[in-house]
Amino acid sequence: MKIGILGAGQLGRMLALAGLPLGMEFRFFDPEPQATAGKLAPLVSADWRDRDALHRFAEGVDAVTLEFENVPVETALLLAEATPVYPPPAALAVAQDRLNEKRLFQQCGIPTPQFAPANSLAELKEALEITGLPAVAKTRRLGYDGKGQMVLRDMSQAEACWAELGGQPLVIEQFVPFLRELSQVVARGHDGSIADWSITRNVHREGMLRLSEAGPETAAGTTSDTAREYASRLAVHLEYRGVLALEMFQTEQGLMANEIAPRVHNSGHWTQDGAETCQFENHLRAVAGWPMGDCSRRSFSAMVNLIGAVPAPQDVLRCAGAHLHLYGKSARPGRKLGHINVTAESAVALRDRLRPIARITPCPDFDAR
Ligand code: AMP
Repeated sequence: MKIGILGAGQLGRMLALAGLPLGMEFRFFDPEPQATAGKLAPLVSADWRDRDALHRFAEGVDAVTLEFENVPVETALLLAEATPVYPPPAALAVAQDRLNEKRLFQQCGIPTPQFAPANSLAELKEALEITGLPAVAKTRRLGYDGKGQMVLRDMSQAEACWAELGGQPLVIEQFVPFLRELSQVVARGHDGSIADWSITRNVHREGMLRLSEAGPETAAGTTSDTAREYASRLAVHLEYRGVLALEMFQTEQGLMANEIAPRVHNSGHWTQDGAETCQFENHLRAVAGWPMGDCSRRSFSAMVNLIGAVPAPQDVLRCAGAHLHLYGKSARPGRKLGHINVTAESAVALRDRLRPIARITPCPDFDAR
């Protein structure tokens, strides 16, 4: 089984690390010639729209998948003419546009924050009447890790917001005073079967994920079943194959969908050490048309992202229950360079094991250290 992966960042690298033991072979495509996954398998480096290079990339591969959600949809469609592409390019197209994404949630009967599109300053002001204040303005396309976003607290900020983000289509959302941020990662197999991991609580700082903690005990009441039901509904609706992540806000009124990721997701990294089958392996199994693996939790698990700087490996490895995953990328402020998965036999033991981690790298719940 030879799989072509669009994008050769850390997610591609971790896909290859999960698939190589299964006897899979990989080829990557990425405009960046130094992309980190290129250290593990051949990398074709060219512009996303370079047809000759795409042809070379797809030659002899059994299926194509992606690890980067801003792969141009035309690229996926072009490849799909000759090779199966999973997830389907239509799912990719929805996930690339925050407005279409929100409409998809509505279509599937999944609650989402009040929203309105804005293509001009006048429309931005109208949108704020609909959503109320505070509100969050987001670019419809190409935003990630909190980039391309601005919180508006009163009407007078509309001009500044348009000056900062405008000139491109925006979506304006009601600001949600959430209790927690949660995500649900699911994998849909070639036969339509759905495998789901435990719900995960996520803590962000400056728009970037810092800490994930897995398990229904991190979410209240029936939230966990509802989250699974929402993510499954989306996967079925999109005729999806592979791993899909749904990010949500937990509020007093219940769950609200924020966005989907049509790929393996940072909030699913804990599955590498904390689940019977990790998200990377199940994604590949789905793409290959192989049976899905068991997603049960093996332990209480958390994940701490290493952003901008990496502690000395031996300092991490000294911590009980710590599993270090480095991405082989050079350090730069705000760049995801690796993560630490922490496993334990109980929720209490997990908190105890996170404490020493928080002494060597920033970890939100333990900020007051
Ligand atoms: P996003 O790129 O949509 O995932 O947004 C990045 C982060 O900004 C989220 O994880 C939240 O912490 C915050 N955020 C985004 N949208 C909203 C919203 N409507 N209300 C409150 N916080 C938000």
